[in-house]
Amino acid sequence: MTTRALSKEEILSQRRAFLGPSLSLSYEEPLLILRGQGQYLYDEAGNRYLDVVNNVCHVGHSHPRVVAALAEQAALLNTNTRYLHPAIVRYAEKLLATLPAPLEVCFFVCSGSEANELALRLARTYTGGLDTIVIVGAYHGNTAALIDISPYKHNGPGGRGAPPWVHAAPMPDPYRGPYKGYGRETGAQYAAGVGALLETIQAGDRALAGMIAEPVLGCGGQIVLPDGYLAEAFARVRAAGGVCIADEVQVGFGRVGSHFWGFETQGVVPDIVTMGKPIGNGHPLAAVATTRDIADAFANGMEYFNTFGGNPVSCAVGLAVLDVIEEEQLQENARRVGAYLLDGLRGLMDRHPLIGDVRGLGLFIGVELVDDRETLEPAAAEASWIVERMKEAGILLSIDGPLHNVLKLKPPIVFTAEDADFLVGALDNVLAEQADHRAGREL
Ligand code: PMP
Repeated sequence: MTTRALSKEEILSQRRAFLGPSLSLSYEEPLLILRGQGQYLYDEAGNRYLDVVNNVCHVGHSHPRVVAALAEQAALLNTNTRYLHPAIVRYAEKLLATLPAPLEVCFFVCSGSEANELALRLARTYTGGLDTIVIVGAYHGNTAALIDISPYKHNGPGGRGAPPWVHAAPMPDPYRGPYKGYGRETGAQYAAGVGALLETIQAGDRALAGMIAEPVLGCGGQIVLPDGYLAEAFARVRAAGGVCIADEVQVGFGRVGSHFWGFETQGVVPDIVTMGKPIGNGHPLAAVATTRDIADAFANGMEYFNTFGGNPVSCAVGLAVLDVIEEEQLQENARRVGAYLLDGLRGLMDRHPLIGDVRGLGLFIGVELVDDRETLEPAAAEASWIVERMKEAGILLSIDGPLHNVLKLKPPIVFTAEDADFLVGALDNVLAEQADHRAGREL
């Protein structure tokens, strides 16, 4: 193997030669990123990019405290969980302390997909049912069972649709959906869609396991749920004998600012909570928290073992991440800077008709682009153009939503007000350029 630095072209051609082609790259001209620090990434020439899209390196890229915790524990010991070790119980106690009762038991796994996969097994074992309610546009992970519960994938290119045990509830989208606004009435109207699915399940020869939902919809297009939606939907699911799973893989750990967990913004307590991405700041760590009853029902003789889950290195990393969030008051930072950024972005709406909606909680924000504010015609091509131009301005964004027209903003939560100013200023310029570009194109 060569030891000299590989050029971008060489890496690209070797990726094509050695890696499965289903793996994609960001940007028309892919970036070679060699270093990260805080909210910034650096390419091979030392150019700095503001990372507005990476919700994994939650407390900042290469946070020294997290790196030190990882290195110190890796130098000492890394084994599976079949020996006693203090790190796993310390970490479990600290993680569970962030959750309301009766969420008091946890399992450690290695990815958001493993967490959701386990959540499905817990729900099925506890209820004896199989049928699962999901939300249209949702993504919950990459395994076979999770593609089955992810309309984002099974209804997309290469997908084979939903199996009969999966039931998709209408997306509770207060901007684009049939019921508008964030009030309780809208929440109840969308939750009635969950009620209709429950009736179908109960009328057929089927048995309910439960419902899984993100407390703020990520792949669905950075959608903030209307008030009361989860409370009403979860009440209906429980009344039908199902359990309620909150997928906090994208939104948990203080990102929403007002609360530590996304589900708290909806005033509910789920039966199962799944966590991933930010939990290990980039280290492959994930977790599931649940009630004592559900965990006990799952202990039915079949052991749950996960070779890497809960190892001492992962637990040391997880603990360091929780310590940093607390000591650097990053939840409060997400609240304060997120509100400031939302204001700044909303301020652009007067000058730029392309922005149809700006929404978000804390540092989880979506900017939906439309060609027409009346018809809501999605501006997908414009969104791609803007993301490319923002990259040239040194800012990394990406696109989400079923119509590919939502700019998603979910930076490391060490993001500052200065970063927000830089972002809003650059977006203002790029939107103005985009308007000129469009006018030129249409002449
Ligand atoms: N749930 C949600 C909401 C996600 O966004 C993702 C990843 N994008 C997953 C689960 C799966 O996580 P992982 O890629 O770590 O398996």
